[in-house]
Amino acid sequence: MESQKIANKTLVHNYGHGGGGITLSWGTSIIAAQLASKPLAKDIAIIGSGVMGLTTALILSREGFNVTIYAEDFPPNTTSNIAAALWLPSSYFDRSIVKPEFLEKDRQIIRGSFSRFLSFVNVPRYGVYWNNYHLLLPKVRDSIRALPGGNDLYPNLATSTKDNLFGYPYQSYMKALIIDPMLYLPAILQDAQMAGVKLKQTKFDNQDQVLALTENVIVNCSGLGASKLFGDESMYPIQGQLTHLLPQPKINYSYVVPTPEGYLYMFPRKGSIVIGGTAVKRAYSTQPDQQLTESMVRGHADLARKLTS
Ligand SMILES: Cc1cc2nc3c(=O)[nH]c(=O)nc-3n(C[C@H](O)[C@H](O)[C@H](O)COP(=O)(O)OP(=O)(O)OC[C@H]3O[C@@H](n4cnc5c(N)ncnc54)[C@H](O)[C@@H]3O)c2cc1C
Repeated sequence: MESQKIANKTLVHNYGHGGGGITLSWGTSIIAAQLASKPLAKDIAIIGSGVMGLTTALILSREGFNVTIYAEDFPPNTTSNIAAALWLPSSYFDRSIVKPEFLEKDRQIIRGSFSRFLSFVNVPRYGVYWNNYHLLLPKVRDSIRALPGGNDLYPNLATSTKDNLFGYPYQSYMKALIIDPMLYLPAILQDAQMAGVKLKQTKFDNQDQVLALTENVIVNCSGLGASKLFGDESMYPIQGQLTHLLPQPKINYSYVVPTPEGYLYMFPRKGSIVIGGTAVKRAYSTQPDQQLTESMVRGHADLARKLTS
């Protein structure tokens, strides 16, 4: 996240949020909107209509700016639409290289985002609900870890070493928010439009085309697209594959279990049970892998059998 001046344009970047983009969206977009409002230009262009573009556009429009979103894809066809999506800041920076200032800013972003998401809980059109979340581990940990943003953001946080889900030796338990992006994205798109945001379907091939827009302030919320559009070679995809099962209203818990291959996770929504998951760095294909689907379903079925045995 940063602001740069190119000729007479102000370009604000709000991209690269890895596996935590839905979670962080309000926190990072509040900062992006502050940077974009500084030049006091009335008209602002947003590139991208995923969770970042929509949230940034909504904030700026409510502040009175004339906002237009330019994007190749709109919901339901963005990456944001296919997120899992648990409210948990994860997988978006390398702890070994960040400075303390980054961590302090990160904490503010996380806390700011969390408080905004609370306002959507149990409002049906947003699809944001509390859930009983279990992190299940094969080895006992000595103490509760410090969670991103502060442990007070995770109600009922506790650990236990017996009577755990699926018989695991150790579990960390808490209440966590689950966001259904298939409801949440259309809802904030609608909010943005009601606030006056205009939408223009546009594909940009390079930075010059972006800078040719009439608006003098441009917010780049192009997600992975920023890599090509703005030549950011540090960006790479993390490919994730999910499977949706029919909804089961009685399932009110979610879990994450580490496996030799990665993780298995399950997040129940009103419309489906989402199971995952894979996280393959630098894999570009968006084609689902049938074998992977089958092995994931098998992995979850093996866990579920432990509930009944
Ligand atoms: C399987 C999976 C599970 C996930 N689980 C979680 C989770 O549990 N919790 C969580 O917080 N996050 C999760 N994420 C991460 C989250 O989905 C992303 O961080 C977030 O959606 C990124 O949002 P974005 O708006 O930056 O990008 P996107 O949603 O990718 O939107 C980018 C926008 O930019 C536009 N664009 C790009 N290039 C161009 C161009 N050249 N011209 C015009 N328009 C362009 C696109 O059309 C699109 O509108 C998950 C992701 C995946 C894939």
